[in-house]
Amino acid sequence: SLSDRLASTFKNLRGKGRLSEADVDATVREIRRALLDADVAVPVVREFTASIKERATGSEVSEALNPAQQVVKIVNEELQGILGGETRRINMAKTGPTIIMLAGLQGSGKTTFAGKLGKWLAAQGHKPILVASDLQRPNAVTQLQVVGERAGVPVFAPHPGTTSEFDDPTGDPVQVARDGVATARAKLHDVVIVDTAGRLGVDQELMKQARDIRDAIVPNEVLFVIDAMIGQDAVNTALAFNEGVDFTGVVLSKLDGDARGGAALSVASVTGKPMMFASTGENVADIEQFHPDRMASRILDMGDVLTLIEQAEASWDKAEADRMAKKFQDREDFTFEDFLSQMQQIRKMGSMKKMLMMMPGAAQMRQQLENFDDREIDRVEAIVRSMTPHERVAPKIINGSRRARIAKGSGVTVSEVNQLMERFGQAQKMMKKMASGQGGGMPGMPGG
Ligand code: GDP
Ligand code: MG
Repeated sequence: SLSDRLASTFKNLRGKGRLSEADVDATVREIRRALLDADVAVPVVREFTASIKERATGSEVSEALNPAQQVVKIVNEELQGILGGETRRINMAKTGPTIIMLAGLQGSGKTTFAGKLGKWLAAQGHKPILVASDLQRPNAVTQLQVVGERAGVPVFAPHPGTTSEFDDPTGDPVQVARDGVATARAKLHDVVIVDTAGRLGVDQELMKQARDIRDAIVPNEVLFVIDAMIGQDAVNTALAFNEGVDFTGVVLSKLDGDARGGAALSVASVTGKPMMFASTGENVADIEQFHPDRMASRILDMGDVLTLIEQAEASWDKAEADRMAKKFQDREDFTFEDFLSQMQQIRKMGSMKKMLMMMPGAAQMRQQLENFDDREIDRVEAIVRSMTPHERVAPKIINGSRRARIAKGSGVTVSEVNQLMERFGQAQKMMKKMASGQGGGMPGMPGG
């Protein structure tokens, strides 16, 4: 997976002031492979990686992330942006029924999705109806009726119960759509889902039929259903339907099994239309609202790494890090107060120990976390709290008798106080070194 590959790329990268071109290149190379593996269309990959490179090169390295992680973070943000940022909800009609039309190639999963969407909306208290405007494929009407039955959603077909006439390609799907919407209005359905015909390839006649249906019923949403397994054809198909029916949102179907969903990025990238639903199986319940963030990590095949990056960042208190940095720039002394505050930062990270352990490129941090013990921090905190304010800022004055008093006050042995004094001395040295620009990595790790 990309995680594994990045882990080896990460190895040689260390925290520096700014992301270098070499850091970015190494990471972007792996990202490009991951995108191609996910079947994102080649021109989309090319454009995407170029813009990542431009944005990432020279951007500042954050305190919490190593350079490769930071490139991944930028990639993730861009991916989410292209996929639609926030989850896009159905645009409901202000008055009258909300009309949702489905369009897409034959076999893309429209009819199946019609049932899923109907059931999904019914579960939310809506009263949907399905309309069978696919009179092209033999048995298409019957198929929708079966789907509707499974979903527990009524189906409008010109002559309910009989299907033979609709296998006749001379039937008028536009009129069926119109009648379906009128019926929905009359029977007070608040959502109408119109299933339409598709062909095996993009076809002008078919596109005209879809456009005629659209113009006859003026839908609130035209959802373009595309098979996640379509691969490199995604771009051309999406462009044709975008041009043909000017769809308002995308449904990615068959996103079960092995599909990594690169088509989502291809379609969103070339049309600028939001991804709205994922269809994830043959069962009527296999439908999900599309989550750009989840999709981004699926495309990148990053497992939980992106979540880890987010959490590492959130737990790293930026304000505190800035304060510390400034302190050393100003050549102020490192005190026990600072030491304690660093320990508290580590505690925050420590509560995520398990997850941080899985993070690639965090070998150094991992080592420290393996030795990390929450009780250890409690002990340190107790000892520091037993110092007088003056002792905390001027540790030099802590002599033998003071140590004995501190040990007694915090319920530890004198040798434990001595150990802490020693560790404090090391941390102080390390902070001095960092202040003079020699150090690197995480400043908040004096313990471990
Ligand atoms: P349509 O021609 O666009 O209406 O496509 P259908 O809804 O008839 O689906 C075509 C085939 O794909 C059928 O065999 C469906 O069972 C199958 N299918 C549809 N959606 C999914 C899905 O999300 N996952 C899987 N595995 N199969 C699906
Ligand atoms: Mg169909």
